[in-house]
Amino acid sequence: MVKLLKLKPVFKERIWGGTTLRDSFGYDIPSEQTGECWAISAHPNGNSTVENGPFEGKELSWLWDHHRELFGHVTGDRFPLLTKILDAKTDLSVQVHPNDSYAKENENGELGKTECWYIIDCKEDAEMIFGHHARTKEELVKMINSGNWNDLLRRIRIKPGDFFYVPSGTIHALCEGTLVLETQQSSDTTYRVYDYDRVDQNGEKRELHLSKAMEVTTVPDEVGQNNHHTSKHDSTIITTYVEEEFFSVYKWEVSDSFTYKKTTPFLLCSVIEGQGQVKADGETLQVNKGDHFITTANADSMIIEGSVEIIVSHP
Ligand code: ZN
Repeated sequence: MVKLLKLKPVFKERIWGGTTLRDSFGYDIPSEQTGECWAISAHPNGNSTVENGPFEGKELSWLWDHHRELFGHVTGDRFPLLTKILDAKTDLSVQVHPNDSYAKENENGELGKTECWYIIDCKEDAEMIFGHHARTKEELVKMINSGNWNDLLRRIRIKPGDFFYVPSGTIHALCEGTLVLETQQSSDTTYRVYDYDRVDQNGEKRELHLSKAMEVTTVPDEVGQNNHHTSKHDSTIITTYVEEEFFSVYKWEVSDSFTYKKTTPFLLCSVIEGQGQVKADGETLQVNKGDHFITTANADSMIIEGSVEIIVSHP
């Protein structure tokens, strides 16, 4: 009865990536331009592998297909979530994602992509593009077609510890000098709106997807303040960031010992600081900053000991 699944991430080189995933987490990254760590993923474009126990070496998508009891027999043709860590050394392109129904129809049955970001770290005065200022679809189309990016895009200041909920249809971009933990629907569908007119070594610009982007963008946008709240359980601080249709996301700051009693079939857990031990009915997992694990439906409770910060999510 497997209770804890430790997962081995998949890394992605990106033109905007750097070396922070190695410098900050000690990951063995493939190059000096590594942008993404797909930490807990069953997406075919980057499937995590189990690192412990009887399922060692198996991919997460295989477990979902063949051992649904680990996930409480929840329904669904694919593992619903994807956890990433992103190192934006330079600006990412400005983009927008479709919702489920649009993606299903136009992207070969892919899921839509609602996502959210926890800012692990960023440079001083770091920014993010989050939403836009167009009041009507006509205004949006006009501003995009005339390249009026300064007036269109909403820029905001960010700092470590901030959290942003990014529903599908929201124009957004991470900007240079940010390290982010992203929880998202398991999807790889992105429509690029603006790429700062950058060219690669061959003088080529990356493809834009303007007509799809204009179709799926929410106008006027609905981005707002994220109303998170915190609660204390003995010495553990629990921050609830979002409890929405596709996922709930929390931060657990454990400074001594914390007992979790199961309230949902399974949890995705990413250790972003510190180290400790996770114990679940006789199974023990040593966890350090940069480790990612799932608690399965077999674990009725778990105890976390140590000094450790974990971003926790579930569908
Ligand atoms: Zn995105």
